[in-house]
Amino acid sequence: MSSSVHYDAIVVGAGVVGPCLAKCLAGQGRKVLIIEREWTKPNRIVGELMQPAGLLALKRLGMAKAVNNIEAIPVEGYYISYFGNGVTIPYPEKTVLRTLATAPVAGAVEQGDEDKMESDSTLDMRQWDESPNLRGVALHHGEFLTRLRELCLAEENVTKLDGNVTGMVQEDGRVVGVEVADKGVFRASLVFCCDGIYSKFRKELAADFVPSVGSYFVGMDLVDADLPKKNHGHVILGQHAPVLIYQISPHHSRILCAYRSAKLPKKADVLEYLAASVLPHLPESVKPSFQHAYESSVDGTSIYKAMPNQYLTARLNDVPGFVCLGDSLNMRHPLTGGGMTVGLNDCALLCELLSELSNEQLKDHEAVLQRMVRFHKARKGLDAVINTLSIALYTLFAADSPALTLLQQGCFHYFLRGGECISGPIGLLSGVIPRASVLFYHFFAVAFYSCWINIRAKGLLGFPVALWQNTAALVTACFVLLPFLSQELFS
Ligand SMILES: Cc1cc2nc3c(=O)[nH]c(=O)nc-3n(C[C@H](O)[C@H](O)[C@H](O)COP(=O)(O)OP(=O)(O)OC[C@H]3O[C@@H](n4cnc5c(N)ncnc54)[C@H](O)[C@@H]3O)c2cc1C
Repeated sequence: MSSSVHYDAIVVGAGVVGPCLAKCLAGQGRKVLIIEREWTKPNRIVGELMQPAGLLALKRLGMAKAVNNIEAIPVEGYYISYFGNGVTIPYPEKTVLRTLATAPVAGAVEQGDEDKMESDSTLDMRQWDESPNLRGVALHHGEFLTRLRELCLAEENVTKLDGNVTGMVQEDGRVVGVEVADKGVFRASLVFCCDGIYSKFRKELAADFVPSVGSYFVGMDLVDADLPKKNHGHVILGQHAPVLIYQISPHHSRILCAYRSAKLPKKADVLEYLAASVLPHLPESVKPSFQHAYESSVDGTSIYKAMPNQYLTARLNDVPGFVCLGDSLNMRHPLTGGGMTVGLNDCALLCELLSELSNEQLKDHEAVLQRMVRFHKARKGLDAVINTLSIALYTLFAADSPALTLLQQGCFHYFLRGGECISGPIGLLSGVIPRASVLFYHFFAVAFYSCWINIRAKGLLGFPVALWQNTAALVTACFVLLPFLSQELFS
């Protein structure tokens, strides 16, 4: 391959965001090079539940068919189990779409139906369209990525390169290309960095632009698991840190068990934790498949993985010639399955804004920077909600103090009330209510409801104790939500 070609855009990384970005830019008439160091199908435990707002962005980017023919499972909402009691939370009604951008992004739809999913062996579009409620989808990450890459590479303006990007090439204070191991230098008007969770290049934005690790998720594959509520994401709460389960294909379900540690846990410690603290509290129907996965993890025959749960607030892309997107720009706790939703919505928004510029103007830093400032502001609604909610819910669901335990209990009882007490929170979580004020309202409604439940439980004699506990709970609620929310909104 000649490295003397000048590209309009180089996209580093063909994970979830990279192929969508490359395809959309190519559809806008740009010459795009996409570079990935590992083109073979990955087997990762990330990015397997796509929220409705993520699916909407995927459609707007003309990549709807990436969820087809991979045996994806429709998701209708969540089932929360709290010490064995369950509540079902359906995704919001489709009417909520009226307030969102749903039209395809400029250049994304060329043939006419790239924004439409098709019926296949697991997805029935007639049923899907007739449902009054929104749906998400759960899938095998590697299969999904393979489809995204196929759709991207089918675009004639996209060139594929198999290689490891080792550095950014700079000239006169501007990124002008990338250095690829054993392949040389490749040049472009703009370099888009979509290199994911362990991004090597996000530090181009600032030396202190580094994520923090709060905990780990340990993942296993459950074969033929009998889940309490079909077509729903499951969140299992108890003394243990939260456990997520969702069916990702007809015979496979993913289980992700949060592990409270900021350091990579030792396998022996995790296995002991899973056996002693998780297994006894799982729904009875799930125990046999869990036990089977656990035993093959112990003898090393099954795939067992631990992934860090990282947090990183986005910052303005103001480096000339260089743009960060996806996990390299911004991360949140994966408990709420919001990463792909934020990444794909960012991708759609950015492509829309850049469509205002000609290929020649991509070299004009002032013109690009103006779009980056608009991008940074416009993405905040969704970003602040999804990111802050993920941290707040994880903190409550992994409660490790009496105040948090009180809030966790109140949160579950709040959901039991139904109506607005579930439609609001699930609208936030699924990304279709991107409004920080709604998050603020529901979070503090949960906090005050927790206090009320505590007063009722303690009775008249216990009132002074309840008052003391409630004060601690309200102060804790402020500390859980406000620092993250303000950081997200004002950074
Ligand atoms: C445990 C866990 C569970 C998650 N579950 C969900 C979920 O259910 N739903 C959800 O929406 N989100 C989930 N997420 C988040 C989601 O996976 C990410 O938000 C999403 O994958 C980000 O996409 P991306 O394209 O930015 O990065 P990635 O998908 O990570 O892609 C980055 C790509 O860049 C390539 N790359 C990196 N460096 C280089 C280099 N130097 N040269 C060439 N190529 C390079 C990598 O090989 C990779 O293919 C989860 C995250 C974790 C940690």
